[in-house]
Amino acid sequence: MNAKISEIFESIQGEGIFVGVRQMFIRFCGCNLNCYYCDTLKDSEFCVDHVSGKTIRNPVSAEYVQKLIDSARVHSISFTGGEPMLQAEFIRALEKTKSFYLESNMSLPEKAKKLRFFDFVAGDLKVREAKLKDYEVLLERTFESFKILRNTKRRRTFCKIVLPSEFNAEEVLNSAMQIKGYVECFVLQPVFGSKLENIFKLQKKMMEFADTRVIPQVHKLMGVK
Ligand code: SF4
Repeated sequence: MNAKISEIFESIQGEGIFVGVRQMFIRFCGCNLNCYYCDTLKDSEFCVDHVSGKTIRNPVSAEYVQKLIDSARVHSISFTGGEPMLQAEFIRALEKTKSFYLESNMSLPEKAKKLRFFDFVAGDLKVREAKLKDYEVLLERTFESFKILRNTKRRRTFCKIVLPSEFNAEEVLNSAMQIKGYVECFVLQPVFGSKLENIFKLQKKMMEFADTRVIPQVHKLMGVK
């Protein structure tokens, strides 16, 4: 089994409720969405393996990734992207010798069903201001994915909402109400450099029905990968 991976590296988790834990990041190429703030490579001829200090040709085999996972001394392995759910079969081919952490846009419920063995899920709720097409359909698929990968005794799931300075707070509240039963908490993540006033107001309203935290991208503040 092979997959296109843009890079593999170790760093701290910079987003959400696990900020600061050490992880190995497997960053896949490609995504089914197209957010305006995205910084992910759609495709790459090579995978940069920062852990071993090698650059290898894509696609990368599951055996290669497995060896890195087995020897990593980390809190968990973060599967990120791009959209890791597009690589569900590749991930299933790996042996879970460490805890697995999923960072997903939550738009692919059919794939989510194949990834129930994850220990941690950092799932996105996209806002309309991300200007994604067929937004209503995306929302329904997001709710379904959270239901499938819901927070349980064995899996910690939270919802991350990336917010610009201006957004439709009522709409975010309504969507969060649909998700609240499936998550441990919500994380409001300001787009880097955006004003915080409206985000703090939204946090206050959401606190009426769920633990809601405002957490920026800490790795960017620290100037690390
Ligand atoms: S969901 Fe994530 S990887 Fe996909 S386009 Fe949006 S920001 Fe980029």
